[in-house]
Amino acid sequence: MKEIDINTIERLKKIITESSKFVIVCHKNPDGDAIGSSMGLYHYLKNENKDVSVVTPNDIPKFLLWIEDTDKIIQINANRKGAIEKFESADVIFCLDFNSISRISAIEEEFKSFKATKVLIDHHPFPEQFADLIISDTSCSSTAELVYHVLKAVDNSLEITCSLAESLYTGISTDTGGFSFNSSDPSTFYAVSDLLKSGLDKDFIHDKIYNNYSYDRMRLLGYCLEKKMQYLPEYRTAFMSISKKELEEFNFQIGDTEGFVNYPLSIKGIIFSALFIEKDNLVKASFRSKGSFPANQFSSENFNGGGHLNAAGGESRITYEETIEKFKSLLPKYKNLLLKD
Ligand code: 5GP
Ligand code: MN
Repeated sequence: MKEIDINTIERLKKIITESSKFVIVCHKNPDGDAIGSSMGLYHYLKNENKDVSVVTPNDIPKFLLWIEDTDKIIQINANRKGAIEKFESADVIFCLDFNSISRISAIEEEFKSFKATKVLIDHHPFPEQFADLIISDTSCSSTAELVYHVLKAVDNSLEITCSLAESLYTGISTDTGGFSFNSSDPSTFYAVSDLLKSGLDKDFIHDKIYNNYSYDRMRLLGYCLEKKMQYLPEYRTAFMSISKKELEEFNFQIGDTEGFVNYPLSIKGIIFSALFIEKDNLVKASFRSKGSFPANQFSSENFNGGGHLNAAGGESRITYEETIEKFKSLLPKYKNLLLKD
């Protein structure tokens, strides 16, 4: 990771010391890093006796609800008025784990009018300049890891409580696929090593994150792998798609398809995978790659999205069937990049 600029740290120190009301907001469809980094910062500020609330645009996946105080999170989709009131009365708004204001589309319109000082902490490429203070490091494994380094730099006597450590560890673990990618920098393991000193139960967290499938979810995964995967070795690509009807058949709950997109990459020779999920009026797309194939570029060029080199997302406003055809028809155009490494 990059060293954080000393002026930035001094400014943040001042902002935190001189303010009392904080709101932390993360991106819609929050994942482990969005919630983990937000809750980590929340526990730090709470410990500093600050008035702090976490706001999410929509539902939090159930597998994260064991993290302390996630029941206090305000979801804009469930309590818009309460969320807006928090934003309007805040001195500081922390924006965590997103690089574009469109990732909090639920309050995109209002965002500019909030008077609070806005601080962005994120690890996605090309951050938009929508905050007063921007701490962005694309080389960092996760926003949670970046929050750890920021807190260490801001507070010499940082007390790493167990709740703080559990939150940040969850973000680091989920954004690195359980330390299988984006985690070769020693700084990640220094952070984890320090977090472990708090007494957090790593195996408990692993169990909560990775061994928490409902029976329906496990069956849905089996069904997708057997019946819904298309294998295109000529493009070193494999992908899956799930219709609304199929989701209903498996009693779909939010978060159930989390991680499914990674499975095709376990096939020898496959370096690009995609998952398309039919929603009410759009198709959600997820992309994963290995090596140099730019999943984010593929998504921004074709699916109005973006993300990291090897993990990106986007959406499609044509029909579910058309989306799948579109994806397949795009592959020849990317053949050189797909066969490069
Ligand atoms: P996922 O496939 O898990 O939804 O998303 C993977 C990564 O892609 C996320 O961490 C995020 O960086 C990015 N991402 C997902 N959906 C979108 C989207 O609609 N727009 C943009 N710009 N990035 C997205
Ligand atoms: Mn992240």
